[in-house]
Amino acid sequence: MGKPYVSWARYPYTSQQAVDLQWRTDLLPDVPSVLPQGNARSYGDSCMNHGGLVASTRFMRRFMDFDPQSGLLRCEAGLQLADILNVVEPQGWFLPVTPGTKFVTVGGAIANDVHGKNHHLEGSFGNHVTQFELLRTDGSRRLCSPTENTDWFDATIGGLGLTGLITWAELQLKRVPNSAINLETIKYQDLATFFKLSEESEATHEYTAAWVDCLAAREKLGRGHFLRGNHARITQPKPAAAKLKLAMPIDPPLSLVNSLSLRAFNALYYNRLFQERTFATVHYDPFFYPLDFVHDWNRMYGPKGFLQYQCVVPNETSYDAIREILQRIADANSGSFLVVLKVFGKVPSRGMLSFPRPGATLALDFPYHGNKTMALFDQLDEVVVQAGGAIYPAKDAHMKGEHFRQFYPRHDDFKQFKDPGISSSFWRRVMEENT
Ligand SMILES: Cc1cc2nc3c(=O)[nH]c(=O)nc-3n(C[C@H](O)[C@H](O)[C@H](O)COP(=O)(O)OP(=O)(O)OC[C@H]3O[C@@H](n4cnc5c(N)ncnc54)[C@H](O)[C@@H]3O)c2cc1C
Repeated sequence: MGKPYVSWARYPYTSQQAVDLQWRTDLLPDVPSVLPQGNARSYGDSCMNHGGLVASTRFMRRFMDFDPQSGLLRCEAGLQLADILNVVEPQGWFLPVTPGTKFVTVGGAIANDVHGKNHHLEGSFGNHVTQFELLRTDGSRRLCSPTENTDWFDATIGGLGLTGLITWAELQLKRVPNSAINLETIKYQDLATFFKLSEESEATHEYTAAWVDCLAAREKLGRGHFLRGNHARITQPKPAAAKLKLAMPIDPPLSLVNSLSLRAFNALYYNRLFQERTFATVHYDPFFYPLDFVHDWNRMYGPKGFLQYQCVVPNETSYDAIREILQRIADANSGSFLVVLKVFGKVPSRGMLSFPRPGATLALDFPYHGNKTMALFDQLDEVVVQAGGAIYPAKDAHMKGEHFRQFYPRHDDFKQFKDPGISSSFWRRVMEENT
C-alpha cells in the first residue's frame, strides 16, 4: 500500500502510490486504477486516488511554443501558471482566466475548468483552450479542440482527469498593457449592497469579487469589502512585485482558526478601511494571488485539516440562498477569514461537468471538526439543492452522490468518455458508492 497522502485541505487522508510522468510520456502506467495529478492544489479528494496510483505531471512542464504576436501558447500540461506568467507578462500577455493561486498546472486548470474574478466577461479556463492532446490508458491519443473531437474536448474540460491524461495544451492568452491593476475597494454594509455593486460593476470592471465577514449577522449579514479592478493603462512607475514571502513554519497542534480568532480578525479586517472607498494601483500578484504570499498557509488549520465549501446558486434564488447560507454559518459560529463571494456571468462553460454557471458563488474554509462540520455542510447542501445550485468538486470532500448527480445532469453522457483505467476517490464516492 502507498504512503499517507493529503490534498491542499489536508482532509481526507488517503493511502496511495505516486509515479512521476516524464516528457513525451508514451503510456500511462498499466495498473487497475490510476489518476492524472497536477500540483494537488484541489482541496478535497478529486485529485486523490485512495488505494490506487496517481500519475504526477510535475516533470512535464516545458514550454513548446509561444507566438508573441498572436499570444498563442503551447506547453506541457504540468507547467504551472506561475511559470507562464513569468515568461509572457513581460512580453505584454496575461492569462485569460486565473484562479486564486498561480501554483496550479495547465492540466489541472483544464480538468477543473477553473474560474477567476473575470468570469462575468471571460467565462472559465476552458473557454480559452484552443486544443490539447489526450492520452488514454489504452495508449491511444486524440487531438481535441472546438472543431476536432469536440465531444472529447467537452468531456475533458472540467472532466476531473477521468477521460485521460492531457499531455500538452494550447491556450489563447490576452494582451495587457503592463503588470499593474487599478483597484478600487469598497467597504459595504450588507448583502443587498453586494449584489447592487456587482451588477453595476459588470460592464465597467474586468475583475470583481468580495471578501465577506461570515460572522456578521442580522442587518449586517453579508457585509464585506467589494474589490473591482482593471488592467492599468498607463502607470509610471509600475508597482513592483513584493519580494517578501512568508511561510507557516510548523504544524500547530490545533487550528489557529477558531470562533474567537475569527471574530477578532473579521472585525479588525472589516474596519481596517476608514473610508468607504479606496483606490490603488497594485502589482497583479497581490491582487490575484494574496494567499500565495504565505507558503503552506493550509497548515494553520492544524493536523485535522479543513474543508472548503464552494457553491453556486442561480441568479433567481441567489439573494435568499446566500442569505440563508451565511445565516446558518453565523449561527454555527463557524467558517474562516477566507470567504469569497462573486457573481458569475452568462458565458457558457464548455465542459459537461463544468462547475461555473450563471449565479452567485460563495467559497469559504472551515476547520474540520468531524461530525459537527459535516452536519453543517448537510444543512448548507439542502439550501443549495433547494435553490437549484451546485457544489464545486475541486473543493469538495463531502457532497453526496445523489446531489452530485443532480448538480451535474450530464454525468450520464460523460460516462461514455471516462477512461476505464482511470478513477479517483471523488468519483468513487459520488458515482460508485451507494450514497
Ligand atoms: C489558494 C487556492 C485558491 C484557489 N482559487 C481558485 C479559484 O479562484 N477558482 C477555481 O476554479 N479554483 C481555485 N482553486 C482550486 C484550483 O485552482 C483547482 O483545484 C486546480 O484544478 C488545481 O490544479 P492542480 O494543477 O493543482 O491539479 P490537481 O489538484 O492535482 O488536480 C485537479 C484535477 O485535474 C486533474 N488533472 C491534473 N492534471 C491533469 C492532466 N495533465 N490531465 C488530465 N487531468 C489532469 C486531476 O486528475 C484532478 O481531477 C484554488 C486553490 C487554492 C489552493
